[in-house]
Amino acid sequence: MRAIQVEKDTHRLRIGEAPDPEPGPGELLVSIKATAVNRADLLQRIGKYPPPPGASDILGLEMAGVVERAGEGAGPWRLGDRVCALLPGGGYAERAVIPAGMAIAIPERLGFEEAAALPEVFLTAYLNLFRLGRLTAGERVLIHAGASGVGTAAIQLAREAGAVPIVTAGSAAKLDACAALGAVCGINYKEERFADRVLAFTDGHGADVILDPVGAAYWADNDRCIATDGRWVIIGGLGGYRVEQLDIRAFMGRRIQLNFSTLRALPQADKIRLTEQFAGFAAARLGDGRLRPVIDRVFDWTEAEQAHAAMKANANIGKLVLRVQP
Ligand code: NAP
Repeated sequence: MRAIQVEKDTHRLRIGEAPDPEPGPGELLVSIKATAVNRADLLQRIGKYPPPPGASDILGLEMAGVVERAGEGAGPWRLGDRVCALLPGGGYAERAVIPAGMAIAIPERLGFEEAAALPEVFLTAYLNLFRLGRLTAGERVLIHAGASGVGTAAIQLAREAGAVPIVTAGSAAKLDACAALGAVCGINYKEERFADRVLAFTDGHGADVILDPVGAAYWADNDRCIATDGRWVIIGGLGGYRVEQLDIRAFMGRRIQLNFSTLRALPQADKIRLTEQFAGFAAARLGDGRLRPVIDRVFDWTEAEQAHAAMKANANIGKLVLRVQP
């Protein structure tokens, strides 16, 4: 099959050949129609985020396509079924093998390009808002990088759960996009201190849950505006990983629960359980359009370099998709 390879010395992307994956028992071989770009791909291509043991070393954490072959005991799936799935790697290719339990049936109203934009950001948002953040109806949730792929999924999931999404983003256009998805308070972090606005908006209560891909640069302000009994979930280090001074007494007194997670590192069985839980919450909502992947732009996979450059430049609102096969 054809797959995008990373050139060893230059780290440039080019389409080359790779061995076809073979489905084993309980697995599906999927012919990939589209995949999508994630921040992890940008790091992996420069050698900073190696795939977990046993995973494909081809880039790509998600895909949408058609079942081409089903291994023995691969459940109810049939040849030709339209599925999308999270991958530990291997999405920038014409074929991938997935455990049948990881497949999500693509709702009729979604095309392959939209479906390819679903798994990584919606499963990340679902895991961190609901399992780790234990977000419930009526609570205030602060979603940083609100216009990112993860942010656009998180706003919608929070809204559907009856919670109150507050977002930060770096431009008026990004904040407008967040508002259209259901954010009720938008803060341009380049123009104002987000902690001040969160405290003012919540009458001093603070955010019950914080979903944070920024890390160190937001540490002090998150600390300042998280509510007592708040759940603070860190999923990235866009603003650095090292926090120099930490006074844990302030956390103990307010019973702050600090969580860190990466979806890619979850054990397979847990990913299957998460996929099932997400499908239970989202299938009807994706089916009638209450939830939808937000797509900034679709590129042909021969233009993967341009798609990576757009993400690196923080230019996207929602997802950047790569079309692999017509
Ligand atoms: P994305 O669509 O590329 O969006 C990221 C956005 O973050 C940028 O467009 C930019 O928007 C903002 N940003 C970048 N650097 C920043 C900084 N220093 N301070 C504040 N904001 C900054 O990203 P994504 O694919 O949704 O991923 C978002 C983050 O979640 C990434 O860090 C990614 O690694 C992480 N992630 C973690 C997991 C996990 O399981 N732990 C899974 C998926 C993604 P503005 O213009 O608004 O600044």
